[in-house]
Amino acid sequence: MKIAKNVNRLGTEAVYNIFAKTKKLAKQGKKIIDLSLGQSDFKSPKHAVEATIQALKDGHHGYTLPNGIIECREAVSRKIKKLYNATIDPERIVVMPGGKPTMHYAISFFGEPGAEIIYPDPGFPIYESMINYTGAKAVPFNLTENKDFLLNPNKILPLINENTRLIILNNPHNPTGSFTEKNTIDKLAEGLLNFPHVAILCDEIYDRLIFDNKEIPTFFNYPDLYDRLIVLNGWSKTYAMTGWRLGWGVWPKNLAEHVFKFCVNNHSCVNTAAQYGAIAALEGPEDHLKDMMKEFTIRRKFIVDGLRSLKGVECSLPGGSFFVFPNIKGTGMNGEKFTERCLQEAGVAMIPGTAFGKFATDNVRLNFATSKDNISKALEKINNMLG
Ligand code: PMP
Repeated sequence: MKIAKNVNRLGTEAVYNIFAKTKKLAKQGKKIIDLSLGQSDFKSPKHAVEATIQALKDGHHGYTLPNGIIECREAVSRKIKKLYNATIDPERIVVMPGGKPTMHYAISFFGEPGAEIIYPDPGFPIYESMINYTGAKAVPFNLTENKDFLLNPNKILPLINENTRLIILNNPHNPTGSFTEKNTIDKLAEGLLNFPHVAILCDEIYDRLIFDNKEIPTFFNYPDLYDRLIVLNGWSKTYAMTGWRLGWGVWPKNLAEHVFKFCVNNHSCVNTAAQYGAIAALEGPEDHLKDMMKEFTIRRKFIVDGLRSLKGVECSLPGGSFFVFPNIKGTGMNGEKFTERCLQEAGVAMIPGTAFGKFATDNVRLNFATSKDNISKALEKINNMLG
């Protein structure tokens, strides 16, 4: 049996390996505090759950259009208008089973041997995995060189050449929790105007998880880029709906019909009843999100202060998401060793920075979307381990 070469170039998300290890240790009776996962500990909004149940009762159990029911795409379009004051034709919106497929398809559109794709390192591991899968050259920009891991247009834009087909941006950022404010994004967008041959994939999945009431620096602010802009977003993080598998992408008009074909060839449509729940999440009250962010704000301070008090650990304050990405070099360990010892000796699961690329060798990612009690115990256990 001979499998296609591309398949061997696919990467993975280490979080699933850690997840498996954690489960195994837990099965052996070891108590593990899991700060490795990329999801909120909040429940999904009640009104989304109820609308989904009602949709099933109403008989919405058949296939839908591959790009999503029009009511859902219109709801996304209305939300974009409300949040960012941008007018987006629902025909440019494709509802997906999660945020990930938008990434997969966007990279598939532009990746092939000879093409170059620019992406963040550290960054969500699927960017690099998919670029490699397509045979394109993966060109990383190193976020560890910048203060607080912020996007730096002066370092990103010079990486563009005539072979560059796509640039991937993610703000707020996984795994670092960094949040680059609008004035810098303006500069980046302005610079990108000079490269009309380059498409832009902006992963804005954490755009509602921004602290201190800062403005959302969305790429919808730049209509001059719309003909080559893909925006990835979804329900997973904002509404604590990771397991529902619901996401949306906004595509340039001429690509949307190809995306439609990708959907036809791949998943036919997104879970029908869930699409009704998705509408309810978008259109319902936002107390859930407000409560979640209020709680995350408290936990962010708590975990950052706690980490900073550990010997050999430095930590920047995340501006968005629910991740912290401390530098642990001062402990005498690298990120991988630190992660392994924390899991085996302290019973705390986290992810090494190298799960997100090659540059963040001295960092680890912890998720603070868990109870304050869990965070407190985890910090105490790590402190004891460090001696
Ligand atoms: N982009 C980023 C930056 C993410 O962190 C994630 C999920 N961890 C996704 C996209 C994918 O989201 P989903 O689970 O909705 O596919």
